[in-house]
Amino acid sequence: MKSTVLQNCNKCGLCLSVCPTYKVLNQEHASPRARLQLINFYKDKKVLSSIGLKEIISKCLMCGSCAAICPSGINHYSQFMEMRTKMRHDHGEKVAIKSLIFLLAKEYRIRLAAGFAEFSQRIIPDNFIEKYNLGNIPVKKFPKLNKKPLRKAVPEIISPEKSKKGTVLYFTGCATNYAFDGTGFATIKILKQMGSEVIIPEKQTCCGIPMLFHGARDQAEKNILINIECLSQDDVKAIIVDCPTCGSALKNEYPALQKQLNLDDTAVQKISSKVIDIMSFILQESDHTDLFETSVKMKVTYHLPCHLKNGLKSSYNTEKILREHPGLEYIQAEDVDECCGGGGTFFYEYPEISKQMVATKLKNARSTGAEVWLTDCPVCRINLSGNLKEKDNMIVKHPVEML
Ligand code: SF4
Ligand code: SF4
Repeated sequence: MKSTVLQNCNKCGLCLSVCPTYKVLNQEHASPRARLQLINFYKDKKVLSSIGLKEIISKCLMCGSCAAICPSGINHYSQFMEMRTKMRHDHGEKVAIKSLIFLLAKEYRIRLAAGFAEFSQRIIPDNFIEKYNLGNIPVKKFPKLNKKPLRKAVPEIISPEKSKKGTVLYFTGCATNYAFDGTGFATIKILKQMGSEVIIPEKQTCCGIPMLFHGARDQAEKNILINIECLSQDDVKAIIVDCPTCGSALKNEYPALQKQLNLDDTAVQKISSKVIDIMSFILQESDHTDLFETSVKMKVTYHLPCHLKNGLKSSYNTEKILREHPGLEYIQAEDVDECCGGGGTFFYEYPEISKQMVATKLKNARSTGAEVWLTDCPVCRINLSGNLKEKDNMIVKHPVEML
């Protein structure tokens, strides 16, 4: 268990070497060490709550790299989240972020908003939105939304293709449900081929991480309770996620909030112990070489999402599969595990910083000569594909779609 005692910080500076905001801004106040110090001062009443303080605490991607490297075992994550809750209470939130939180708090609102956005994408011509950006991403480059949410397009219980080897729950997350159904169909297909009965609980909803990252713990609570109710089933051997951020929420954040929100401890632990990303599940459960689609012939590269590395602690599994796939020529990018600057809504709130981060990623991905850039995280996927140029001739996909 990571310590939350801020005084344990020995100021060694190791966290600076991995912090993406510090690397770009090269200023102490953009470092994890300074953020912790300021939280300490705030708790000791040496620093008052202010917009400036809120800005310093918010200008962080919540990537978790600082906590992963810290020799004192400090849990930066929970400190930052708690502080964000206080700052939100004192200074409010931008209208766009408030609206996002309002939408994500009820599944029917997400469904209505996604339906409206999908319709708008169909009727508004690209040249009409040509000059508009959302943060550092041109609006026209956002993914086309699913015609039908994935969870409405498939049955709640799906039988395996061969003899049953167990039952898994599939937590689709909002991105796959509303925008990336190709990832969802590929995940279901692979699980069926592996002999899994797949249950996709109809009532599941947003994991709550976007709210928690913006300090809206009260709004996230209802989502967390709904998900605990539908995921804490007995007789399932795994809870599959295709999004590492959702996975990290279920695995790490629900247990971390157990006391504060008075969550059912047994249910939370049950869920946490069963959560696994789809690529790790494939490696763990099967002779995965049977699953390879050998007619594929492609040169690919990869971006390792921060929440897969630091949240689910699964740094090597996807790359292992890509290297073994006989149809893929996998070329590792020099900065495969560097943050892309997407960070939930970071690309929208701090586009200038985010753009600098993604620029280096683009340069290194281009130099691999790959046709497909793979990444497990939907926000990374939106950020990377949104910043590619047409002349790059590269598309971004989830690795499960390449099998
Ligand atoms: S790595 Fe940990 S102990 Fe070292 S400066 Fe950062 S927070 Fe403090
Ligand atoms: S979570 Fe990431 S961006 Fe935020 S302080 Fe830690 S290393 Fe830096």
